[in-house]
Amino acid sequence: MSLPGTEVVTIESLRAALEAGELIFHYQPKVSMVLGTVCGAEALIRWCRPDGTMIGPAAFIPLAESTGFITEITSYMLDKLVADLVIARAADPTLTVSFNASARDFEDDRLVQAIVRLLELGIVPADALEVELTESAVLQAGPALSERLGVLRSRGVRLAMDDFGTGYSSIDTLSKLPFTALKIDQGFVLRMETSSKDASIVEASILMGHRIGLEVVAEGIETESVFMQLQAAGCSIGQGYWMARPQPLDRLIALLRGGQRWPAGAIGLLHMATLDHLEWRKALIDALLSDDRQLHTDGLTRFELDPTECRLGRWYNGPGRGLSDLSAFARLGEAHVALHDCAGQITAASKAGGRMAALLPSLRKLTEHSTHIVALLQELEHDVLTRLTVGERTRTQRVLSKRPPPAE
Ligand code: C2E
Ligand code: MG
Ligand code: MG
Repeated sequence: MSLPGTEVVTIESLRAALEAGELIFHYQPKVSMVLGTVCGAEALIRWCRPDGTMIGPAAFIPLAESTGFITEITSYMLDKLVADLVIARAADPTLTVSFNASARDFEDDRLVQAIVRLLELGIVPADALEVELTESAVLQAGPALSERLGVLRSRGVRLAMDDFGTGYSSIDTLSKLPFTALKIDQGFVLRMETSSKDASIVEASILMGHRIGLEVVAEGIETESVFMQLQAAGCSIGQGYWMARPQPLDRLIALLRGGQRWPAGAIGLLHMATLDHLEWRKALIDALLSDDRQLHTDGLTRFELDPTECRLGRWYNGPGRGLSDLSAFARLGEAHVALHDCAGQITAASKAGGRMAALLPSLRKLTEHSTHIVALLQELEHDVLTRLTVGERTRTQRVLSKRPPPAE
């Protein structure tokens, strides 16, 4: 591995850099595509040399990983991260940060224990921290990984699968480990504008992430049109040079204080929520209509009665909260609880042997609730469209497209 010029990176030079405090984090903002505001930041390591040159991770992280020195870097940087987070949360108390961990960091308990100790000190809440792990790290990390990630998750730390789509077993890994978010690899996102295949892969990944209850983050957004495409597809969080580059802590804080905004929009998410609701309703009807006794019982047992656990409910309590200032939002919550109550009565009656004919009046009631839910989702859509046409979006777009974010 060599640095600009002829100098070669060695473990000794890395160790000296670590001890001299030359390894620092730059922070790249993550933007909520529903609200159009910063909702978090990713910590990305940089080697800041005494002569002012800045060296990116590609020049030294592979060596650190292959030699195992990465565990010392991670441990040291974790303390730095928490100190930075405390400062940044003074500007935005809801800010969360994610940081990248390597497979080697999970070969033993040290990283997990260090995070647990930090949380026990109560300096930052667990849900302000997210660990990003690439698929290849997951594949290298060995069987204890699942248990270690489980410990972090049980403490409330969030876990993101980074570079989704580039490894060998993305979907298998996602289903086995307790991830809370997936980050679509920037390669797909960068090619979205020129390749309809890549655009379809991204859209399908957003839908799949949503269906399994994961937050979906798209990274590598370099243009406004990709931002818009992702927003229309229902992506909830975006990261990329078009919005902001990785930047030193003080610049991140200035950006948080400045309250910069990007185009907000939730049409894609609202369409997904409508589909979620219709599919939930169809699952109930399918189970009720099934002649096969076993299928009937299984369908009703699997049917999601808890209004916070169905997909619409998870959307409502998750990314949908970005619409909570709209008046239809609270009404949607009430209508949704009433709908689930009604479904609970129907499934109980059916399990007790009630025939379809006897259930019809309750099903009529369910249809009324359902129609009301769809109408409220459309009202929210209309409110969002109204907000957009008032000019907030076009104004922000004009300002942003004239002013590309400065380089690091
Ligand atoms: P990553 O975690 O996938 O981070 C995203 C990378 O994409 C960052 O590169 C970021 O600067 C870059 N990026 C963000 N938006 C755009 C965009 O719109 N267009 C393009 N072309 N690139 C964009 P960076 O900082 O060079 O980091 C590269 C990788 O190094 C990271 O990929 C991560 O895997 C690793 N890394 C960074 N910091 C750490 C760390 O503290 N520990 C470990 N173990 N790995 C780290
Ligand atoms: Mg990352
Ligand atoms: Mg990535």
